[in-house]
Amino acid sequence: MSTNEMKRIYLSPPHMSGKEQSYIDEAFETNWIAPLGPHIDAFEKQMAAYVGTADAVAVSSGTAAIHLALQLLGVGTGDKVFCSSFTFVASANPIRYCHAEPVFIDSEPETWNMSPSALKRAFEDADRRGELPKAVIVVHLYGQVSKMDELMALCEQYEVPLIEDAAESLGSTYKGKQSGSFGKLGIFSFNGNKIITTSGGGMLVSDDVELLRKARFLATQARDTAPHYQHSSMGFNYRMSNILAGVGRAQLEVIDDRVAARRAIFDNYVRAFSARQGVSFMPELNGTRSNRWLSTLVLDKEETDATVTELLATMEAANIEARPLWKPLHLQPLFEGTRFYAHAGEIAVCERLFESGLCLPSGSSMSFVDQVRVMDCMNVVFDKAVEKSVQSA
Ligand SMILES: *Cc1c(COP(=O)(O)O)cnc(C)c1O
Repeated sequence: MSTNEMKRIYLSPPHMSGKEQSYIDEAFETNWIAPLGPHIDAFEKQMAAYVGTADAVAVSSGTAAIHLALQLLGVGTGDKVFCSSFTFVASANPIRYCHAEPVFIDSEPETWNMSPSALKRAFEDADRRGELPKAVIVVHLYGQVSKMDELMALCEQYEVPLIEDAAESLGSTYKGKQSGSFGKLGIFSFNGNKIITTSGGGMLVSDDVELLRKARFLATQARDTAPHYQHSSMGFNYRMSNILAGVGRAQLEVIDDRVAARRAIFDNYVRAFSARQGVSFMPELNGTRSNRWLSTLVLDKEETDATVTELLATMEAANIEARPLWKPLHLQPLFEGTRFYAHAGEIAVCERLFESGLCLPSGSSMSFVDQVRVMDCMNVVFDKAVEKSVQSA
């Protein structure tokens, strides 16, 4: 095998536009190295304009943005917060930072995101107990926006604020509106593997300008107006640096290209495998447009002998990075004993997805040659499975 063939294909590596360096240089030339500065102001304005919210606050990570959102909504000791179960642990850890308790809500099959019927039962139960949650965290997984009309109607009915964890869905829309702009607060991540990156960073967005003013205050150590250092509430050191905001500006300028590239890669995978028995890709709900952050698929055990384990092992042997889908948080040892509401009775949709699905390399800089290398590698596994089933028939 040539060295090029063996070069590692990553799941979702950073993809620089080329303009980042000039913004970094500008920060150095003007000595805006210290936190905050003109890149922060510009990046926040550009994010708010892109997402369609009144304002935005740049912070050190998506996790920090979720923590701030919960603080702003007054989540504290003993409070309940409803959260999607099918997600990365960072969606729920900040609930624990606030000494509150998560209640996990299952997915539904059409978006793989929070099930409105499970949320409804969770609300009814909580209402009966007199334990309504302080907030609901809805995650838009792999770029697919959740069923916002149904979820928002329930949150409005019970008068509980909704936080959108849009860490994976920058650039995705629901009925033409950007993800992150529906809830009381929305959060984004610019971690190295996300659709755009500042190497590490996040953003809190909202139409509530007063709430975001308070977010800026809390994120900079909650310093009262006084000539000396005066503090009457507990703050955090959660702001983004001016240098990283420069990287973010350059990245945001190409977001639409990045979405187009990821969608094209997804379409190529669909074209390559849609004829395979027992393979189905993450759906796209009518009226939504996913950024296809990661191309994901599930295998139907009844229809194919190919397994997730075998596909992952074969790709790893070929130096290709693929991953299982997120392990539901209600199954994590960290959250043992927390309450969970399944989509329909006893059937947990997210457990089935976790057991049968995987994420394929999806970086926006991935060449067609590399895509074919992934497809060829997977086809070996699928062909073997077909042979096996023919022999046993
Ligand atoms: C990446 C991610 C986060 C956390 O963002 P960081 O910037 O890494 O802190 C939160 N939620 C989801 C769904 C994510 O994928």
